[in-house]
Amino acid sequence: MALNHKYGQTEQTLAQLTDQHSAILNALPATAVIDQQGYIQEINTAWIQFATENDYEDQTYGLGSNYLETCWQATGADSQYARAAAAGIQAVLGGEEKLFNLEYPCHSPWEQRWFRLIVNPLTGPKGGAVIMHINITERVLAEQGLRESEEKFRTFIEVAPEGIIITNQDGQITFVNAAVEKIFGYERTELIGKSVEVLLPEHLRAMHVAYRADYQTMPHNREMGIGSDLLGCHKNGNLIPVEIGLATVAMADQLLTLSFITDISVRKRIEKKLQQHMEELARSNAELAQFAYIASHDLQEPLRAIAGYLQFLERGYRDKLDDRALKFINSSVAGAQRMQGLINDILDYSRVGSRNQALTTVEISTVVKAALNNLTAAINDSDAEISLDPLPAVVGDGALLTQLFQNLIGNGLKFRGESPPRIHISAQLAASTENDHHPGTDKLWTFCVADNGIGFDPQYTDRIFRIFQRLHTRDEYPGAGIGLAICKKIIERHGGQIWAESEPGQGSTFFFTLPADKLPQHSI
Ligand code: ADP
Repeated sequence: MALNHKYGQTEQTLAQLTDQHSAILNALPATAVIDQQGYIQEINTAWIQFATENDYEDQTYGLGSNYLETCWQATGADSQYARAAAAGIQAVLGGEEKLFNLEYPCHSPWEQRWFRLIVNPLTGPKGGAVIMHINITERVLAEQGLRESEEKFRTFIEVAPEGIIITNQDGQITFVNAAVEKIFGYERTELIGKSVEVLLPEHLRAMHVAYRADYQTMPHNREMGIGSDLLGCHKNGNLIPVEIGLATVAMADQLLTLSFITDISVRKRIEKKLQQHMEELARSNAELAQFAYIASHDLQEPLRAIAGYLQFLERGYRDKLDDRALKFINSSVAGAQRMQGLINDILDYSRVGSRNQALTTVEISTVVKAALNNLTAAINDSDAEISLDPLPAVVGDGALLTQLFQNLIGNGLKFRGESPPRIHISAQLAASTENDHHPGTDKLWTFCVADNGIGFDPQYTDRIFRIFQRLHTRDEYPGAGIGLAICKKIIERHGGQIWAESEPGQGSTFFFTLPADKLPQHSI
């Protein structure tokens, strides 16, 4: 009875152990136990699933089949891995290897997957081994993705038009892209490991080492060379004007400096040419203005003499000349006087901006009042009504701006229609655009002088700003056609633009811009 009881207990313990064994086995990834000859002794549920998923047959993967032979005899796409596995299993069974590891791709029927094969020897007199296939597809795909994105970034950096140099804390070059090779004429193998100063002109190298040490103590992303001239040195010794951006990245235990280098040789050449052209233009403009001034000044004297002698002729020989001759003399005097007027206009025009007046802060309302004061007679005669919005202060030449308003308001009075003139002056603040000629200015005042006069055909909006160009005859409206040309010159001297909008019979509006926040420092 007691024996029976003991036997029963042993049986129960054995059953418990078997349950525990298969529970542990089933908790593992695809696992099979093979004997010393390679015959499969035990498999778990994951193994069955692995075999099913891969469409393997029972005879090759099931209990009792010889796994070693299965591997040796494998054919098809993955057979080289199967043979490597067989060799590994054999080495483990033969005691040559303590553990065998193999990562392999598996073209399962519906998707590409990757597995790691682990073969562990079984200790004990019977030998054998435990074989495990662990699915590592997720990890392999992640690694592949990482490799691909690394590749992509490497390509981006390689084809970047800017030169990119990476230096370590000691200023040694650890990476350069193709643009660096092109800019500096070195092969990258000649640069890697060298100090970055090799790319600088000789006379700047020592100073750069100090700069670099300084930058290392307080690294921050910044642009170099903006506004100043930075130079690199080509392998052939030629100096290259460059712009450099710096950025620092902490990687592992290293602080790396990235330099982004742009070769600005072409831009510099163009800038230099442009500068030369501008200087030539300024010189020829100054010569032209000087010529206009001298010519008109010198012409006045003989003209005055002609007019004077003609008038003398008329007075002294009135009795001896017939009516026809007197009429000719009168016309000649009128012509000479008109020519004097034109010459005076040219003088006025060439005088604009020739005084090199210092810029001051000018209250536009004061300037407009002065202009209106000069126009009192015309305003009273025409019964004009002139209204002003609040007007700002700007930086400019007060006398020229008075002349500008006087010309524009004067035209509004002169080119009036049937009803008495109504002129309105206003100003609006706006952000400056790229097309404005106000370097360094963010805000612009746009001034507006609007009248209710006869207007003009909008196709002539450009023409009226040219010297001596008029749309009306002198009999209709007196004038020489110089007023708007002077306005244009005054505004351009202030760095602004002037234009007009009009329709016949609808009145005209003249606009011009002036910078809003320029400090009074230049002269015009
Ligand atoms: P002027 O007034 O001596 O003719 P301007 O240069 O001031 O010379 O003007 C050129 C031409 O532009 C004028 O002859 C006229 O035809 C046209 N113009 C100028 N201002 C106005 C205006 N406010 N209304 C209509 N036409 C104008």
